Amino acid sequence: MAEAVAVPAAAQLAVTPVLVLMAGQLTPVALVANLLVAPAVAPATLLGFGAALVAPLWPDAAQVLVITAGYAVGWIIMVGRWSVGLPFATLPWPAGLPGLGLLLVTLVVAVPVLRRRAWRAVALTVVVAALVAVLVIRPVVGPWPPKGWLMVMCDVGQGDGLVVAAGPGRGVVVDAGPDPVVMDRCLRRVGVEDVPLLVLTHPHADHVDGLPGVLRGRRVGAVVVSPHRIHEGSGARVWATLARHHIPEWTVAPGTRWRFGPSELTVLAPDLARGEMSGQSEGSTINNSSVVLHVRWRAGSILLGGDLETEAQDELLHRFPVRADLLKTPHHGSNRQSPAFLASLGARAALISVGAGNDYGHPAMSTLALLRGLGLTVHRTDQSGDLAVVEREEGGMAVVSRGP
Ligand SMILES: [Zn+2]
Ligand SMILES: [Zn+2]
Repeated sequence: MAEAVAVPAAAQLAVTPVLVLMAGQLTPVALVANLLVAPAVAPATLLGFGAALVAPLWPDAAQVLVITAGYAVGWIIMVGRWSVGLPFATLPWPAGLPGLGLLLVTLVVAVPVLRRRAWRAVALTVVVAALVAVLVIRPVVGPWPPKGWLMVMCDVGQGDGLVVAAGPGRGVVVDAGPDPVVMDRCLRRVGVEDVPLLVLTHPHADHVDGLPGVLRGRRVGAVVVSPHRIHEGSGARVWATLARHHIPEWTVAPGTRWRFGPSELTVLAPDLARGEMSGQSEGSTINNSSVVLHVRWRAGSILLGGDLETEAQDELLHRFPVRADLLKTPHHGSNRQSPAFLASLGARAALISVGAGNDYGHPAMSTLALLRGLGLTVHRTDQSGDLAVVEREEGGMAVVSRGP
């Protein structure tokens, strides 16, 4: 058995110089993967070969052999898939002759060290400790929010809650999600203690019921609300909560602009002078009166479209056409989207705030197909957890996920 294990590992070592010459990378994980799959190689080969021999004479027996071989092959595939996903599965290494030279020097140093038992124990301990640190500690202490964050879309489940950077410890909050505890935790993780402005795009529970979580231990300067008031349910709860905290609420006209830290926010909709934008239903009418914001940073821009549906998207396209690098997909990616409006933005990526397994079927397959057809990369909170928009050091923006 020891030989069966040693052969693939030795083969891996033997081809390493060739791989370094060709690819300019080291794959230390390949050594581990080879050791793990070694016991399965002989059964897979022998059983498969046996099945091929027996099949013409005794098909039933061949089938039994193939199924058994399948387990061995399955193990090999599983180890392969698992190992490529490991952090540091490949290490960058200079390509070509310099890389080969560096590899030789490393070996010349490593061989005498590994020949002495005491030194070998020290080397092994260091390697194991480094692996444990990478595998166990790194995901837990991973930096959040990532450096240079401009906006964080909180994973609030089915709903919307996000925060736009407004300077150290400060953030403009746009919607509060359905749950105060979840919203408070997200803002805590990001380190937001002061909220100079809170925008509640429209009075639906999945956007406003988390309001007490935003107010927990934080100063909130002013609240901007949709002109479409509802006086029962979540609308009434918002009004009562704000009154209790003596926070003024405002409605604002399109063109209103604020600057907070690195972010410039411009209101695009709704247009009070044009009256109500009706929709398919009472719910659609409220969605269509969402406060729409265009946020600009040095590195790029995003359109925050609330729960805007088809009619209001088309109206906005005709009245106030804008371009944006990123899109907060309106209405959790429902099927009520205007292709012309989405295309007009020229965005490169779409962020979707949506709950896993929600009852509404959000995001719609048709909307995902539409976004991808327009060349947008799709990021979803139900799959990736909190999403952060960051300014990259080399310029431009990237979307980083915290993980589910
Ligand atoms: Zn909603
Ligand atoms: Zn809504």
